[in-house]
Amino acid sequence: MPQSAFDYDLFVIGAGSGGVRASRIAAAHGARVAVAEEFRIGGTCVIRGCVPKKLLVYASQFADDLGHAGDYGWTLQGATFDWPKLRDAVLGDVDRIERAYTHTLDSHKVDHFHDHAEITGPNSVRLKNSGKTMTAAKILIATGAWPVMPEFAGNEHCITSNEVFHLETLPRHVVIAGAGYIAMEFASIFNALGCKVTVINRTDNVLRTYDIDLRERLMTITRARGIEYRFHTTAHSVEKQPDGSLVVHMNDGGESLAADVMLVAIGRKANTMSLGLDSVGIKLGTRGEIPVDGEGRTSCDSIYAVGDVTDRVQLTPIAIREGHAFADRQYGGKPRKISYDAIPSAVFTQPPLAAVGLTEAEARQNHDEIRVYTSDFRPMKNIFSERVERGYYKLVVDGATDRVLGLHMIGPDAPEILQAAAIAVKAGLTKADFDETVALHPSMAEELVLMR
Ligand code: FAD
Ligand code: NDP
Repeated sequence: MPQSAFDYDLFVIGAGSGGVRASRIAAAHGARVAVAEEFRIGGTCVIRGCVPKKLLVYASQFADDLGHAGDYGWTLQGATFDWPKLRDAVLGDVDRIERAYTHTLDSHKVDHFHDHAEITGPNSVRLKNSGKTMTAAKILIATGAWPVMPEFAGNEHCITSNEVFHLETLPRHVVIAGAGYIAMEFASIFNALGCKVTVINRTDNVLRTYDIDLRERLMTITRARGIEYRFHTTAHSVEKQPDGSLVVHMNDGGESLAADVMLVAIGRKANTMSLGLDSVGIKLGTRGEIPVDGEGRTSCDSIYAVGDVTDRVQLTPIAIREGHAFADRQYGGKPRKISYDAIPSAVFTQPPLAAVGLTEAEARQNHDEIRVYTSDFRPMKNIFSERVERGYYKLVVDGATDRVLGLHMIGPDAPEILQAAAIAVKAGLTKADFDETVALHPSMAEELVLMR
């Protein structure tokens, strides 16, 4: 069938970070594009991920600042916290961004269907509710990922990050399963808002992919702030009490935990539910992901995939980049390759962690000789505080070339500082280049150029 005989040049499944970007750029290059979204335009990041999460992080930081304000001469009377007010403000902003994303699709003449899409052939998609079948020269799968919920009795009483933004009331005691990004970020949010928080994890590896020294510092600080940990165990079952509260029984036979809310955050799996992959012979990879080549092509020539559903790096900027590169390549005549090296990342705990490049352990495995520089400092803002929370920065340097291989930070504003410093690491600058840079004083970031 010649291309003109298709309804569209491109049919995108999923209007999240990757799908919206691919749709907009492909349409801007002149392609006829449609996108199907079964939930809300914007996807995980905008609707129930990065954006509402970061607003809750800001809210929790106010708790910290109010605590410090007295040290700086302020008298604060009658400070109270109103969860429904915060929740509704956050959800209101999510609505605003969803409208902005929808407007972007409209202004680029991208047809959008509020429906679940299922692939029915190399060039055809069926919409579940309307029953319509549409054809396209190419199909892009950008269906993201979905929270994993393990099997145990009473798991229907647990929530995931999908529901956490909608809680009726602020819980008194939250139990969080998992010790990755979502678990640790929400542990910090709820802890700062005054909830009792217990984190349970199958190992004692908190934020497994980060440098060990940052993780240990985070553990020390979060324990001092009152977060409790139960390691080497998982939930055996959850019982709902007549008053609506929960009792979480543990697999290690240890003491059960009382909770108002149990948040399960043990990873997110590629979302391929009812996607019709069998109809085109696409087989999932070992982690349930859709395998793709360097250009995002699946085993079916006309079908591509980007973002979390390919489970390469589950981060918004990566989904966006993959969607953009796909559209540029296919419709803009611009061959673009994505580099997966030195991707900066952050965990918005209190204090936050941020990192780019190799951890010390990874560098030791891959390089004959490495040098490590650290700075362990008390952030100036904390100077009046009784809390002794120290920041910690680490530079990992290749001994042979002096190149900075990795930069790891925990401390206030670490993500903001690291984004700028990541340019230097990505550009391959050396420790000598860092040393040559004059410190900006007084700042925490100056520690980056003062490590000797
Ligand atoms: P998504 O944004 O998930 O979009 C997929 C869309 O496809 C969804 O809207 C879904 O409804 C739709 N869909 C699925 N199947 C179908 C179908 N068959 N038909 C129609 N529509 C379908 N990343 C960061 O970089 N920084 C952060 O701070 C951060 N915080 C996060 C916090 C939380 C709580 C969570 C859960 C994630 C966070 N992430 C963060 C990860 C980030 O949200 C994802 O990596 C990103 O959204 C992936 O984009 P995507 O386009 O691949 O998928
Ligand atoms: P993570 O992969 O970050 O962490 C998963 C946690 O669950 C780990 O502590 C892991 O334990 C544990 N776990 C994994 N499998 C099981 C299992 N079968 N049973 C019990 N425990 C298990 O997942 P999240 O859900 O926190 O987040 C998903 C992804 O979303 C992240 O990887 C990240 O890419 C993205 N995200 C990014 C954010 C950011 O950029 N700031 C914020 C939120 C999410 P262990 O490690 O001990 O094996």
